[in-house]
Amino acid sequence: MRDFFYEALPMRVRFAAGSRFAAAEEIRALGLQKVIVLSTEFQAPLAAEISDSLGELSVGVFDQAEMHVPVETARAVQELAQRLGADGCVAVGGGSTTGLGKALALEFGMPIIAVPTTFAGSEMTPIWGLTENGRKKTGRDRAVLPKSVLYDPELLLSLPLGLCVTSGFNAIAHAVEGLYAPDASPIISLIAAEGVGALASALPAIAADPGGIGPRSEALYGAWLCGVTLGATTMSLHHKLCHVLGGTLDLPHAETHTVVLPHVMRFNLPAAPDAERILRDRLATDDPAAEVQRLSRSLGAPVGLAQLGMDLKDVELVVELAMKESYANPRPVTAEDVRRIVHGAWLGVEVS
Ligand code: NAD
Repeated sequence: MRDFFYEALPMRVRFAAGSRFAAAEEIRALGLQKVIVLSTEFQAPLAAEISDSLGELSVGVFDQAEMHVPVETARAVQELAQRLGADGCVAVGGGSTTGLGKALALEFGMPIIAVPTTFAGSEMTPIWGLTENGRKKTGRDRAVLPKSVLYDPELLLSLPLGLCVTSGFNAIAHAVEGLYAPDASPIISLIAAEGVGALASALPAIAADPGGIGPRSEALYGAWLCGVTLGATTMSLHHKLCHVLGGTLDLPHAETHTVVLPHVMRFNLPAAPDAERILRDRLATDDPAAEVQRLSRSLGAPVGLAQLGMDLKDVELVVELAMKESYANPRPVTAEDVRRIVHGAWLGVEVS
């Protein structure tokens, strides 16, 4: 018998090549007067292009977004946005830039228009993160959910192949954990399944045709759906481990997700038969964990956490932090389970 709860998140989504230039329409639709445009330093030229296209609607660019949103950066953008009189922001970039926009939304209730340029999915979630003294705090707050999202596949053309692949598996991880989440629902499972299918076919197509916009557009479509899943459900062991590995050991976000995912799938899927059935179907395999690992490796993704710079001695720290607080998981988790999973991921053992 079915038993579920589902609440739709309110937001506007445009998906089209060139949609970044619809930011002015979104600003007006949201009733905003002046926005600040956010980006990383690397993406400053793109942010400047968008800011210029907005004319009087933009107060300027803040281009210092960084991974995991250091509180110092959050304070700097909050101060600048206030000084320039911005009443909204346009976040142009990956999860780090969207995360910086969320720091403005959390502090001032400032609406965010997100223009994503990776597959991380932060633009679809009410989840914020801030890092202070090496510790990353996260929370959920409806105020940080972007009001408008402009998905422009043209912006994905500059994403290097390696980051396309790992960012794609970061998105797939949201869908996998959404499928066995305690608050999974039929509509979200449909969305997650479609997201996995789109990315699993688009990522090899991107590798085969790195300059083609079609496969990147398909992957961005999949990333949207996986982001919706992330925003609507409670994540489990995989996201917990990646949060600890990224937040405490400073391992790179998308790469860490890519390496860890098959190991957690091998552990969790036997306790999540519905999720396993959907993944078998969408990945056209009898063994989704092995297939995720095979696919990522065939596309040149990193193999183990050692390769990402993690010390073997830190396995125990990860075990300790991962066991500190309870979290949802389809299967009970012991310290020994976490040790085995993280050690296997560190070595990069084959999960089959
Ligand atoms: P990122 O935003 O840090 O981007 C990685 C690098 O790639 C940056 O230097 C960026 O400038 C560059 N880049 C981004 N798009 C590019 C493009 N199209 N072309 C060329 N270069 C490009 O990486 P990410 O993986 O998107 O985001 C990771 C961060 O987002 C982490 O801090 C993670 O915790 C957070 N995140 C949060 C949520 C959430 O719901 N709150 C969801 C996913 C990720």
